[in-house]
Amino acid sequence: MKTQARDWGPSLLFGALVFEPVLFFSQPLLPSQGRLPLGLLWASFVACIGVLILRTGRVSRWRSLLFVVIALGFLIRYKASLLGAGRFFTSEAAQEVPYCHIALSSTVLSHLYQQYLAFMSGAWNSWGPLSLGALWLAVTLALGQGWCSWVCFYGGIDDGMSRILPKPLLKWHRLPGRLRDFPLALLIFLLLISLSTFTPIFCLWLCPLKLTTSFLDPVDSTRKLQLALMIVAGAVFLVGLPLLTGKRAFCGLLCPFGAWQAVFGRINPFRVTLDESTCTDCGLCARSCPIFSIRSSKDSKPEVLDACNRCGQCMDVCPASGIRYTILGRPLPGKGSGWASLWDARILFVFSALVISGTLGSLFVPSAIRALLGAL
Ligand code: SF4
Ligand code: SF4
Repeated sequence: MKTQARDWGPSLLFGALVFEPVLFFSQPLLPSQGRLPLGLLWASFVACIGVLILRTGRVSRWRSLLFVVIALGFLIRYKASLLGAGRFFTSEAAQEVPYCHIALSSTVLSHLYQQYLAFMSGAWNSWGPLSLGALWLAVTLALGQGWCSWVCFYGGIDDGMSRILPKPLLKWHRLPGRLRDFPLALLIFLLLISLSTFTPIFCLWLCPLKLTTSFLDPVDSTRKLQLALMIVAGAVFLVGLPLLTGKRAFCGLLCPFGAWQAVFGRINPFRVTLDESTCTDCGLCARSCPIFSIRSSKDSKPEVLDACNRCGQCMDVCPASGIRYTILGRPLPGKGSGWASLWDARILFVFSALVISGTLGSLFVPSAIRALLGAL
């Protein structure tokens, strides 16, 4: 992306604006021991990401650093015991994630139906997993599909894997035919089958991140089959394809929450919009999109699809500044350099994203750092 390096003043002010809310909101989520220094350390890191994004004009490069750090913090905090490595990192008991957004998206119909039954029988249930719904609504109003590239503690894994090799070994620029619709078809299938069985089918059979005993069947043969499917899904979509192709195959093709956000994320006003007057139709953005969310053809300009999760990669590579964040398709007037540059749809989106990812990341990363330091 051809962007002028911005002045230090606006970049530092932006960093300070990010630092304050991340420090404030993360305080109740941090471990009580060392709360303030851990909070200061973490908020400073998130603020530096903001400064670097503004200063360099590159969104996805610095976003992915934060995103991968959150995923690593999550793996150490919650999943290290999977590999028997927990004893090296933390003396705290291994913990399972109580419920996650991926499970919520694929089982929401069965939870709603159970709630309906409880309501009709006069015994109103506590909302249980659906209490996550309020959090989902707030985050979706602020970020939309941006959750999947800025906050999701699973998405950082395939984003990180897709960036290990400097150049992909296998070129994979576009999806054939209607494969782009596969995630939505899978989501509908999972919703229906979860409703008919009242079980979280994706978590039980496909999610590589549920390779923990609490989700596996007590029957030996069934458990082995579950394990095999989860390992294959993880090896192919979370590790193999991202490593070889540079594409985020888990997020782009398998994750039901990504498909869910592609449908409901539009309640958020931020968009990624192509400016036809400056686009030179070079096709770089479509080739670089890690989740195949730009459709390009010889006869027309590229088209950004609803699945776009606002990662910023296309903007980083566009040589003509032809694609950018907008609010409902309109950029705000802030252009060029100086203080006026802060009044910009990109700045508003990145601010929301950093505050939310910084706040949720404080659940994992500071305690993971403390555990790692304790292990030294
Ligand atoms: S938006 Fe940029 S990268 Fe995409 S085709 Fe147009 S000029 Fe090329
Ligand atoms: S269209 Fe651009 S911002 Fe959206 S997912 Fe693809 S690369 Fe990221």
